[in-house]
Amino acid sequence: MSVSARDALRMAALYVVLSMLWLVVAGRVLDHLFDGSVAMAVGSHLSSLIWVLASAVLIFITRARLLSFIGLGTRRRKQDSERLRMAEAVFDTTLEGVLVTDRTGLIVHVNRAFMRITGYQQDEVLGQRPSKFKSGHHGPEFYRQIYTSLAQTGEWSGEIWNRRKRGEIYPQWQTIRAIRDDQGEVSHYVAVFSDISAIKHSEQELAYLAHHDPLTGLPNRLLFNDRVEQALGTAQSHKRGCALLLMDLDHFQSINDGLGHTLGDQLLKRVAERLSHWLGAGVTLARLGGDEFGVLLERCPHVGEAASLARDVIEHMKEPFSFEGHRLFISVSIGISLFPSDALTGEQLLRNADSALFKAKANGRADYALYTEELTAHAQHRVETAGELRRALEQNELRVYFQPVHDLTSGVMVGVESLVRWEHPERGLVPPGDFIPIAERTGLIGEIDLWVLRQACSQMMRWQAQGRSLAFVAVNISSRLFSQRGLYLEVAQVLAETGMNPALLEVEVTESAVMDDPEVSLEQLHRLRELGLRLAIDDFGTGYSSLLRLKRLPVQKLKIDQGFVAGLPDDDDDIAIVRVIIALARSMGMQVHAEGIEQAEQADFLLQQGCQLGQGYRFGRPMPADALKWG
Ligand code: C2E
Ligand code: MG
Ligand code: MG
Repeated sequence: MSVSARDALRMAALYVVLSMLWLVVAGRVLDHLFDGSVAMAVGSHLSSLIWVLASAVLIFITRARLLSFIGLGTRRRKQDSERLRMAEAVFDTTLEGVLVTDRTGLIVHVNRAFMRITGYQQDEVLGQRPSKFKSGHHGPEFYRQIYTSLAQTGEWSGEIWNRRKRGEIYPQWQTIRAIRDDQGEVSHYVAVFSDISAIKHSEQELAYLAHHDPLTGLPNRLLFNDRVEQALGTAQSHKRGCALLLMDLDHFQSINDGLGHTLGDQLLKRVAERLSHWLGAGVTLARLGGDEFGVLLERCPHVGEAASLARDVIEHMKEPFSFEGHRLFISVSIGISLFPSDALTGEQLLRNADSALFKAKANGRADYALYTEELTAHAQHRVETAGELRRALEQNELRVYFQPVHDLTSGVMVGVESLVRWEHPERGLVPPGDFIPIAERTGLIGEIDLWVLRQACSQMMRWQAQGRSLAFVAVNISSRLFSQRGLYLEVAQVLAETGMNPALLEVEVTESAVMDDPEVSLEQLHRLRELGLRLAIDDFGTGYSSLLRLKRLPVQKLKIDQGFVAGLPDDDDDIAIVRVIIALARSMGMQVHAEGIEQAEQADFLLQQGCQLGQGYRFGRPMPADALKWG
């Protein structure tokens, strides 16, 4: 029932009550005042007259109010519909999207801006739920907060990512309000939103500008520092090393002064391009200002790696830069600082790299320097050696020397061990101990060992052709090669190429190599053995062999390490160890072979203990093939 109907009913009821009250009261008063029936009749006429008059006044008053009320109502209705039209116009012309749902969350209205922003037409969304636009960007907790806020305060506003019809997701700034009816019940929800992707984009652009160098597009010092701090955090938790390289162009100022800043800028741009192209995505490269660049190596287990990167960068920068008709030659100097050995914080790391850079510049430029001086020399040597080794292989600077192995009973030379040497153009004959470990680190060892194998087999074939018979030629194979599954295939290929009988080849592997990774070694040794060659364990006694494992290995020989032979025949410990090794080898049906025999007494003692083979300066040093003496 409407308000006015309720009011009218209330008025009618009041009229009935007042009329009755008037009749009762007037009756009583008349009874009391008049005795005669004539007087009574006159009185009752009078009271009726008074009531009629009072009713007329009452009707007049209410009627007058009603009329003014009706006039007001029409005015109000007019105003309301005007307001509604205005609202609708605003609703339709506003740039903000508007969406109205009923209290159950079904969409009942959307405006034009909504269609423009979302790409949906009205009939595609009416009767649907706003969850249709969910982007998947927010978790359930986010939406729960919206509902809670709406329930508690009737309003929510914030950033929300939704999906357009095309599928693209975009950010909105949205305000949702609950609309309540006269009884205070929620009847609708109105959401007003604007597309803020443009604002977001410019925010990102701003952030990009704040963190990048506009000339080269590389990260700037701010971002670099940030990345360094992050990298140190990760490195610390993963217990690994990082390196920071600070690089500066040599004599850049004179290019700038001589050719002008525009050309200087062009050069810097090209330096940045060359560097970032060459370093690749995994390394952070930044322009820290002027002609200074920073490189962050997030994984740097050895100082040698940072040094070798620096060396390569220096080499790369030596190539001329050609542009705009100019051909510019530049050089760079690099300072290196390492985490955790040199510094524990990003700031300190940068400072140390800076003083290392100063050192590199002071040393004559076009070079690198490490923060720690001793490391510089060490790393320099290693980096140089690694670089030179590559050249040595290409230019045939490696040599194979042969050391005789004698039968201790007869004294006759029965075999030889191949030992590699490097005939360095400046350093002279370099022993394997100086370059094999570096070759192992850089991966060159594979090429070296196979090259030695090929030389040894070819030499053995030549000796055979000359009628010089030997029971075996031994070669050393690095444990690093054990990780190559195809090792046996490469050995087989060398045997096939040289035509050597596999039974004449002995492959030596060190005891520690075999024991470090017994499972892999076991497989490799079996495969090699299947080729028909013989296997020996080198430097036996130094690698803490497990006897159990030793028994499982397809090995035919143990070579007693020269460290135990040196103390013979007087040192009790060496005597005991050598005796045990010989007994062990014999019990397992293996040959024993002693290394490092320098004196006749050592050879005699070993023979007495049952060792059949011996090698050492007493019989001959490692020497070129043609220097071997044949009995
Ligand atoms: P190794 O295989 O145990 O070789 C024996 C080493 O002892 C050789 O050193 C040899 O010159 C030295 N030697 C031999 N007799 C005596 C002696 O009476 N007294 C003393 N003091 N030393 C003696 P070299 O040639 O310097 O080789 C050192 C090590 O380098 C070798 O130890 C071997 O492990 C490794 N090596 C040599 N050539 C190669 C190769 O082609 N490939 C691989 N992977 N390693 C090799
Ligand atoms: Mg050896
Ligand atoms: Mg040895």
